[in-house]
Amino acid sequence: MGILNPPNNIFMLQTLVNQLNKIGVQNQLCDGALPSCTVMHNLDHEIPQLIIWPKSTEEVQQALSLIAPLKKLQKIPISIISGGHGYNGEAMCTGITFDMQFMKSCVIKDNKLIVEPGCGLRKVIDVLQEHSRIIPHGDSLTVGAGGHFISAGWDLLLTRKYGLGCQHVTSATIVYWDGTAEVVTQETNPKVLHSIKGSFGNFQGIITELTLDTFDTPSEVHLARVVLDLATLPKNIIQRSYNLPPEISTTLRFFFIEGTPKLVLILGTLMSKEKTIDVIAHEICKNLAEQVKNSWVCESLSDVRFLPLERTAQEDWKSIVDMTTEEFEEISEKYWKRDVFLREMKVSYCQQRSYWINITAPNTIFKDLIYFLKTISPEFQEKVYGNVTIGGGEMWKNKKNVSMPIGQAIIRFESHCEDLKTHQTQSKHLSYLFTKVSEKYREKELIGKVYSGDKFNREK
Ligand SMILES: Cc1cc2nc3c(=O)[nH]c(=O)nc-3n(C[C@H](O)[C@H](O)[C@H](O)COP(=O)(O)OP(=O)(O)OC[C@H]3O[C@@H](n4cnc5c(N)ncnc54)[C@H](O)[C@@H]3O)c2cc1C
Repeated sequence: MGILNPPNNIFMLQTLVNQLNKIGVQNQLCDGALPSCTVMHNLDHEIPQLIIWPKSTEEVQQALSLIAPLKKLQKIPISIISGGHGYNGEAMCTGITFDMQFMKSCVIKDNKLIVEPGCGLRKVIDVLQEHSRIIPHGDSLTVGAGGHFISAGWDLLLTRKYGLGCQHVTSATIVYWDGTAEVVTQETNPKVLHSIKGSFGNFQGIITELTLDTFDTPSEVHLARVVLDLATLPKNIIQRSYNLPPEISTTLRFFFIEGTPKLVLILGTLMSKEKTIDVIAHEICKNLAEQVKNSWVCESLSDVRFLPLERTAQEDWKSIVDMTTEEFEEISEKYWKRDVFLREMKVSYCQQRSYWINITAPNTIFKDLIYFLKTISPEFQEKVYGNVTIGGGEMWKNKKNVSMPIGQAIIRFESHCEDLKTHQTQSKHLSYLFTKVSEKYREKELIGKVYSGDKFNREK
């Protein structure tokens, strides 16, 4: 959907630009390419005609008030980018994009995190660590608080015990499309607050601030990584992992290690190591408990947060925290572990598919997935990975407090490549094959219902 055809289009946008300049709201006409400071994780996205960089809620209000009368004349697509990590490039459109990167304040007050959308998770992690507080969140340092906490916050260690990050939003400042602003809370406007939590944005306005509950840092945090043997996989491992206490979280990752497809169990626990091993022995099997016992890789929450990063990242941490996304992306290769960088963090053309699956899925799912990996050509092997992540616990218990559907376990697959042609042919074909493989394990009631953190649902 385009906006007014030239020359009306140019005239209208130029008038808007003049008005924005007059009131000092930073903006730029794009002319077919994104300005370098606006970074998208997925290079497969639309290019807007105009980008606006607001520095405050008032500037968002002023800009939207100027755009509102123009929208009456013509449909104008508007989109919002906070961190640019939506998997499918949804933060861009062909019209006007609000880039929130200069609204990046992040503080803790009365044990609540108050964060602006342009703040990257690196800063959120830093502020939480300084105050010994936690919130469930993801592990990419450049993901933006804006998209993340309105739609996601699946933490591979904390979500079963504490829920998703977006389930803890207690208040949000929203500027509606007509330029009016409102602070919505459970008391003042529960309907709008509920619609924001799990929304993936782009529904009724621009979020300019979020407040979230935080929690004490747990005293025990451990993480183990076990390479599993398909032949001796404990029976019904998905269901039995789901039934573990919420302190124990499991993700089964399928990817290549040195050219061979592998299945790796990532097991996080908020219990002591001894107790965790007892529970695994009792609830799953002794053999797996024994393997976990010998495979601990992290002994604290900060170990877990730094696990995908090289040591240099820890040494340079304070400067990383204050970098702009553009500055960080330019040198990020030296901070991520190489394998993590190639298959997850690199700015590239990416394809991502995710589906809710049934927790009663039998272990044949893993045989099918390994068989699927074996079809992948060598040049792609370093650039793909997938997860079966087991949900449940608090996330499931409180599923009604967000506006997106929530299932019990999710399967995801992601591939990255450098050029558009390979992306449009081979990686789309891989996604198609993955969809076929996962089809028979899907949660029937949630077919077509996406996890918002993974995909914008156009129905909304
Ligand atoms: C490498 C990588 C790792 C990830 N890891 C995890 C993980 O561990 N756990 C997890 O749960 N998710 C994870 N995600 C998914 C990620 O959390 C979501 O895609 C999230 O929405 C990204 O937020 P963003 O602000 O960076 O993205 P953006 O692309 O900027 O925004 C995403 C969507 O939200 C909308 N939006 C953004 N800001 C606003 C705003 N201020 N007001 C209204 N709408 C807005 C955008 O228009 C867009 O539709 C990961 C993604 C990537 C690429």
